[in-house]
Amino acid sequence: MSYKKSRYNVIAKNDKGSRLFNSRTGAIIELDKFDPLSPSFAEAWKQQKFELSDHVWFSALRETGFIVPDEVNEISDYMTSFDSMQKTNDHMSLIVMPTEQCNFRCVYCYESFLKPQMNLKMQEALKKYIATSVEHVKAFSIEWFGGEPLLGKDVIRNISTHTVALTRERSIAFRSSITTNGYLLTPDLFDEAVTEWNLKQFQITIDGPKDFHDKRRVLETGGPTFDKIISHLEHMAKSDYPDLLYIIRMNVDHENLKTVPEFARIVKEIVGDDKRARFFARPVWGKSECDLLTNFESRSLRKQMVEICEENGLHLFDSDLFLNPGGGMCYAADAHSLVVGPDGTLYKCTSAFELPENRVGQLTEEGAVHLNLEYFNLWIKPGTEKYSQCRQCAILPICNSGHCPKIDIERTRKNEDGSQPVCPPYKEDIKTFVVTAVIEEEFAEVR
Ligand code: SF4
Ligand code: SF4
Repeated sequence: MSYKKSRYNVIAKNDKGSRLFNSRTGAIIELDKFDPLSPSFAEAWKQQKFELSDHVWFSALRETGFIVPDEVNEISDYMTSFDSMQKTNDHMSLIVMPTEQCNFRCVYCYESFLKPQMNLKMQEALKKYIATSVEHVKAFSIEWFGGEPLLGKDVIRNISTHTVALTRERSIAFRSSITTNGYLLTPDLFDEAVTEWNLKQFQITIDGPKDFHDKRRVLETGGPTFDKIISHLEHMAKSDYPDLLYIIRMNVDHENLKTVPEFARIVKEIVGDDKRARFFARPVWGKSECDLLTNFESRSLRKQMVEICEENGLHLFDSDLFLNPGGGMCYAADAHSLVVGPDGTLYKCTSAFELPENRVGQLTEEGAVHLNLEYFNLWIKPGTEKYSQCRQCAILPICNSGHCPKIDIERTRKNEDGSQPVCPPYKEDIKTFVVTAVIEEEFAEVR
């Protein structure tokens, strides 16, 4: 049988030679230019087609997807598997907003704090919906979002304990995560969340060193928040829950851009060598009156983050996602993902609550989901149908041409030019992520 190179290979040069990454399988290997077999491999790799016997490394490259049988049509295989993922009812992801209220008034926040805490009737409705959903799935996840979700901690407790019991009973994988400002995450509540609610992933935003953070992320009633959040993080870092992941996110605009390296050192002091900690910085994209970074500055921030994390021995969060198949697709593009508002309104996207097309349905008090399929389908329609660029793209299996369906929907609504796909910012940096990725033993040893 003859073989060809996968169209999903990405090659990135480094000091040792190069790294080869495949976006369909997520495999990375190091091709060491000092290896005695390297020159013969370079010769063999120049061919358009190979036999496995052409080089001793080729069998391993086949196993990891870097070469594929010549007759394989990778694009149609990809489309078939994406289509089947969207149609197969084997997983369900809910983003639940226990409340839209928030205890902070951050300078760049886009939320309007309208809806109060989810009432008991709606909590019961959601529990019924979860009970029906877990009957047909193998994996179930809830992400708690707000507002500040911990203002609705009783809602989280009620729904989580119910879901933990249901999924345990049926031996279904249940993953739970939260995006919180961290202010209310006291040590006792954190311990309860991990042990009783199965909450294992926490994303906490801190906007730099104390002076900057306390100017930007203030309490609703006024007043600083930095010291309390840091003390909660210290408890997290000292905890010994093995399967915990905590992510420290810094929102950056011109005001705090220069403080990123200093803040990385503060983070390092807190987390030490804890492998469960992640750090990342993202440009603010909230209120337009903030002093937002330009596209060029955002890109150089992403590159700078790779260096800063390396220098400080911190693990960069983004790179985990962007080197995994499907990891760069927005949840809004997933046919099995819904956002549940406190009043049971169903959305797809968490940053466009006022967009009519984002109100895709309603959870009824009986626990049934009524969807507006015309709107719902706008979010999950594969971009590959519309954009030939996506069908040719080397990172299609990561992005699934679903980086941000909202932008596409808004372009249609405003009759704007939609001839180009909405590419993710990380597309330009994928080689940097490949070069800096920690290669797992199994891939390093693949040859
Ligand atoms: S949106 Fe851009 S990065 Fe994503 S698959 Fe399409 S061309 Fe590739
Ligand atoms: S659709 Fe776009 S704006 Fe909405 S959550 Fe996804 S990436 Fe964010």
